[in-house]
Amino acid sequence: MSRVINFSAGPAVLPEEVLRQAAEEMLDWHGSGMCVMEMSHRGPEFIAIAERAEAALRELMGIPAGYQVLFLQGGATLQFAMVPMNLLAGKAAADYVDTGEWSRKAIKEAQKFCRVNIAASSADASYTYMPEQSQWQLDPDAAYVHVCSNETIGGVELHWVPETGPVPLVVDMSSHILSRPIDVGRYDLIYAGAQKNIGPAGLTIVIVREALLGRAATGTPSMLDYKVHADAQSMSNTPPTYAVYVAGLVFEWLERQGGLAAMERHNVAKANLLYDLLDASAFYRSPVRKSDRSRMNVPFTLADPALDEAFLKGAKERGMVQLKGHRSVGGMRASIYNAMPLEGVQRLVGYMREFEARHG
Ligand SMILES: *Cc1c(COP(=O)(O)O)cnc(C)c1O
Repeated sequence: MSRVINFSAGPAVLPEEVLRQAAEEMLDWHGSGMCVMEMSHRGPEFIAIAERAEAALRELMGIPAGYQVLFLQGGATLQFAMVPMNLLAGKAAADYVDTGEWSRKAIKEAQKFCRVNIAASSADASYTYMPEQSQWQLDPDAAYVHVCSNETIGGVELHWVPETGPVPLVVDMSSHILSRPIDVGRYDLIYAGAQKNIGPAGLTIVIVREALLGRAATGTPSMLDYKVHADAQSMSNTPPTYAVYVAGLVFEWLERQGGLAAMERHNVAKANLLYDLLDASAFYRSPVRKSDRSRMNVPFTLADPALDEAFLKGAKERGMVQLKGHRSVGGMRASIYNAMPLEGVQRLVGYMREFEARHG
């Protein structure tokens, strides 16, 4: 067996320890004689698994009382619709900050439900920065403010918490949730697809202030109503049981690593290794403004795009895969989520130096 160093943006690398544990428990989970995939979601075994996963997530993130944690399906993309369906509450407009591909998708979907006020945009510089709060033109009558706090494709990260006064703050944290401690109490709704920094695809996590529940527009299908899921402990229908189980193992792994403060140190160290090389080099370039660079997704370009293929081929020969940048941006992108070990980034940086020496 040999495992690659996987820089995929998602579905992405998982901690090897977690995969081994899942493999060990595959045929017989804790003496139950069943695989988790074979269990009734209403049985005591799975209920215990789901409760433990939620408790671990609450502990890790310090989720205060007054917030519901929902384990949903449909990806972060479904949240682009569920957010307006549940939070407009009769209002005509919502504020969106436009910082890249994912916020654009959220905006497009919201426009089906309401008037979208683009409170700020970095489209003027090809989405390479995060507009400062002083540039945001918030509408005090907006139903909510929506921000994507880590643009997975552009590699732009929000490193501060926006102030939206009494208007609820909704954040798509899909690609950097759990990468650092956050003060959950400063947000009203946080959502994230699991397949970037949590676990397997198929699970979407929503952390929502209870006061925002029960406001879904008339005619909202039950499965798209947060309150229906909250009232049923996310078991209104069959949840993605195996994905919830693996996510729970990842939460426990994070606790063993020392929690989110330790993860932040680990992630800063990894990101600095890469950005220091990019900044010191005339051959590689990071397109993103320094203050807004993502610790999770690091896009970069080579001086000559004609060398891209050779770069990727050499990386593959050295066991490093999924470095090709998103088709909308080009160049390269290294996604270095929680589960990417420091040695993985060291190997990449070593290869980048070697490649530059040969071609630079
Ligand atoms: C991947 C991603 C999405 C879409 O997630 P799906 O689970 O595929 O729907 C949305 N927002 C961000 C920031 C992402 O990285």
